[in-house]
Amino acid sequence: MEWKKPLIIAGPCSAETREQTLATAQAVAASGKVDIIRAGVWKPRTKPGTFEGMGEEALPWLVEVKQLTGLPVAVEVANAKHVESVMKYGIDVLWIGARTTSNPFSVQELAEALRGTDVPVLVKNPMNADVELWGGAVARLAACNVKNLGLIHRGFSGYASSCYRNMPMWHLALEIKKRLPELPIFCDPSHICGNREHLAEVAQQAADLNYDGLMIESHISPDEAWSDAKQQVTPEGLFGLLDSVVWRSEDSDSESYQRSLDELRGLIDSLDSEIINLLARRMAVAEDIGRIKRDNNVMILQPTRWNSLVESAMSRAESLGLSRDFLSALFEAIHLESIDKQRRVLNK
Ligand code: PEP
Ligand code: MN
Repeated sequence: MEWKKPLIIAGPCSAETREQTLATAQAVAASGKVDIIRAGVWKPRTKPGTFEGMGEEALPWLVEVKQLTGLPVAVEVANAKHVESVMKYGIDVLWIGARTTSNPFSVQELAEALRGTDVPVLVKNPMNADVELWGGAVARLAACNVKNLGLIHRGFSGYASSCYRNMPMWHLALEIKKRLPELPIFCDPSHICGNREHLAEVAQQAADLNYDGLMIESHISPDEAWSDAKQQVTPEGLFGLLDSVVWRSEDSDSESYQRSLDELRGLIDSLDSEIINLLARRMAVAEDIGRIKRDNNVMILQPTRWNSLVESAMSRAESLGLSRDFLSALFEAIHLESIDKQRRVLNK
């Protein structure tokens, strides 16, 4: 199937009542900026005792949404029974949630229930940072001849506290895109952020990484939402956000652009080879240190020396406009390799 680019999917986290579903859908559709209306009907919640969705009772409301707005509707499915229900009501687009993608038994059950369908099925990334599992879910569906598949990047859950509810780990989304280049990939800033503050920034990052569209949660009165209240935006908030995202073109035919690009890429290539040469030299020095430590029976790790080295590197880097996080990750990797080199020398 041909997907419009950028494709915008928006609507409430959950269909709560007929009124809320219709009012939200109508407001969201009125802008002409949204292509598909979403609403969850079965909600996989982290904790029991929270709202778990209205179930099949809400599906006729989505049929009304379709009639009222003329837009296709999307619903999450997590088991074969859900598939049977959505097919009965002619739901246009399905998605598989992050918790379900994490479970191969559930994905297999869905794939068999969906066998041969040309209803589009969007596969969210699993909860954990595992590209194999994400790709495995797609492979199960493809093996059952589910014809129109797509991906949704909704971030990965982590233990460390961060400004995101789910860490984006953009490199994993780029990796699945590299493995499955024929599948469109959409970004779900709502579930990545878990708040409203960073939505626009994450949406822009997705646009800059050549994503095919966005899925964003919008609710007629977000603060009263029965699920994911903190991250949902009003329809007006949604329109502001969509207007702020710049979708740049993939390439340009301009000769001067191509010339400058070639020049700059040449520069990057030569800088990269300099970096590699310098790293090799640095590791050779680390081995020399390993040798003198071995000859003097001194242990490898000297944390005070390392901490002061990192601290001075970070402040120098910062003054040159490099981020502390980047530098700290880079030095961590260099340090690990350096220790490994010394360990080999010491234990030869
Ligand atoms: C949702 O889209 O409302 C949802 C439950 O998402 P996820 O599977 O990404 O948590
Ligand atoms: Mn949600």
